[in-house]
Amino acid sequence: MGTFAMTGGASGIGAAIKQTLLDDGHQLIVVDITGADIDADLSGPEGRQSAITAVRAAAPEGLDGFIACAGVGSHVPNLPLIANVNYFGAVELVEGLRDLLALKNGAVVMISSNSAPMATSAEYVDALLANDEAALSTALESMEGQTVYSGSKQAVTRWMRRNTAAYAADGIRMNAVGPGYTETPMTAAVAEDPNYGDAIRQFVASIPMGRAGSPADMAKAVRFLLSDDANFICGAMLFVDGGHDAMLRPDQF
Ligand code: NAD
Repeated sequence: MGTFAMTGGASGIGAAIKQTLLDDGHQLIVVDITGADIDADLSGPEGRQSAITAVRAAAPEGLDGFIACAGVGSHVPNLPLIANVNYFGAVELVEGLRDLLALKNGAVVMISSNSAPMATSAEYVDALLANDEAALSTALESMEGQTVYSGSKQAVTRWMRRNTAAYAADGIRMNAVGPGYTETPMTAAVAEDPNYGDAIRQFVASIPMGRAGSPADMAKAVRFLLSDDANFICGAMLFVDGGHDAMLRPDQF
């Protein structure tokens, strides 16, 4: 059995991933803002560093895998928070655990989103990828929650793909899962928002497979990508969205 670490295991998709890995008999170290093995606020550099330090102390012999799942939704009014948790809270932890993952030829799964291809601000995504704080705050001035959210997920996915070869050279497989609309506390909050509720219901009704995703749907895909059955899958973005991305963007892949 393996030793895995993850962020965002306290709720929703992350809680399902946590349960799946524990049911499989793995040892799991969960980072979340509260109620986890390691409580840390991933929205700032100090919380991210304390999480990295604590995971390193808990798994000195290395990690078989890491799942970056913590995130906040598009309904959050604090736009920098969306960028900080969803992008920096994912990539900085992977970078900080890279040598531990290399020790065990580990696998990384970034939880992206099927909204990632819908990002509209190249300036914002480029600022994230370049870690350019000035350009980031300028870009955020003219944005709203949905584009900040989708851009954070596009940046996570592009960061994963840009770094796939270098990590593979260390024996680490990196992939992303792009969930479609999934019923969790996050989407319940967005669906209740008077500005977004109607649009969300129409969006769910248009999913080709006729239903929203469940956290368990996502956890099964993550389990597969972490497993030896996926041992030649590297740098992939796996949409787990009931056919929504294919319906919306049939000619782009
Ligand atoms: P959720 O709100 O149920 O869970 C998010 C988790 O992230 C929570 O445990 C929360 O405490 C943690 N988190 C948030 N801010 C944090 C911070 N500052 N520091 C540490 N932890 C923090 O949401 P979910 O729907 O399960 O989302 C999980 C992931 O899946 C997110 O990255 C989300 O963007 C992504 N996603 C969700 C959907 C969906 O439809 N639910 C679709 C696509 C992608």
